Amino acid sequence: MKRVYNFNAGPSAMPLEVLKEVQDEFLDFNHTGMSIVEISHRSAAYQEMQDDTVATLKKLLTVPDDYHIVFIQGGGSMQFVMHAANFLKKRGGYLNTGVWSNKAMEAASFFGETYEVASSKADHFTYIPKADSFVVKPDTDYIYMTSNNTIHGTEWHDFPSFDVPLFCDMSSDFLSRPVDVKNFDFIYAGVQKNVGPAGVVVAIIKDDLLNKVCRDLPLMLQYKTYVDHDSTYNTPPVFNIYFVNKVAHWLDDHGGLQAMYERNQKKAAIVYGVIDDSHGFYRGHARQDSRSLMNVTFNLPTKELEAQFVAEAAEHDLIGVKGHRSIGGCRASIYNAVTEEGCQALADFMKQFQKKH
Ligand SMILES: *Cc1c(COP(=O)(O)O)cnc(C)c1O
Repeated sequence: MKRVYNFNAGPSAMPLEVLKEVQDEFLDFNHTGMSIVEISHRSAAYQEMQDDTVATLKKLLTVPDDYHIVFIQGGGSMQFVMHAANFLKKRGGYLNTGVWSNKAMEAASFFGETYEVASSKADHFTYIPKADSFVVKPDTDYIYMTSNNTIHGTEWHDFPSFDVPLFCDMSSDFLSRPVDVKNFDFIYAGVQKNVGPAGVVVAIIKDDLLNKVCRDLPLMLQYKTYVDHDSTYNTPPVFNIYFVNKVAHWLDDHGGLQAMYERNQKKAAIVYGVIDDSHGFYRGHARQDSRSLMNVTFNLPTKELEAQFVAEAAEHDLIGVKGHRSIGGCRASIYNAVTEEGCQALADFMKQFQKKH
């Protein structure tokens, strides 16, 4: 069996230990004589696993008692709709720092007025705006942000706080570093970047927020349904939640989020170091103070060289370094499961490629 160095942006690399554990248990989940995908979601064996997933996530993130964690299908894009369906009464403010926040804002405009609290759009989303540029309008129901901008490679390193509810899409840096949950009223993450297979969103909701629901909605679109029914109003994506459970334990066994954060900083420094020492051969897309620890985005001198870079990288088993179709260039996604060894292999290749060209 051959495993490559996987820099895909999502779906993306998962920890090898977890993949093996899932493989080992696949035919017989927890001595049931059945696979996790064959047992009832109403069974004690399932419920125990889901409860343990919630408990382990709460432990990793030190989630306060007045928050619920629920699992929702439909991916990040469903949350672009749901957050506004539930909470956009008059106007929603958006910290517009990339393609995903822009999409969320567009989707939300179906339900009411949306506006930019701050934006880096005019500068090709190369930076994270500073607090002194924020404009919050009166009667703002909530402010929405994206902690890590997967496509442009920028990340919030200090979170802002407001006196209206703060929502955060953490899809692409969820569980990559400690986060102060109580700074937010609602956090969600599509798991396919850092935490599991595509198909489930982990949502962390402050209980108090549920009193601010602004319109009647079909049950499946109400966060309250997921909270009241402990994510099992209908059949939850059992395999995805099980996989998240394994990843959460893997993180816990490896020192938790602080240890992962330190590892991620070290890994990112290896790759950004090559960009910074390349005398302009590699040009980082993000401003230095806004750089993402998860997605390293860069350009080469020409489009031809970029295509050649991607092709030659693949010959070295370095997979997935092509940039997103919307901005081009190159991107190496170095999520939790990408090892320091993988980052070093990429860095060595980048140096060698520069020398040759
Ligand atoms: C990938 C991504 C999304 C989109 O998720 P889907 O599950 O494909 O809808 C949303 N937000 C961020 C930050 C992402 O990285």
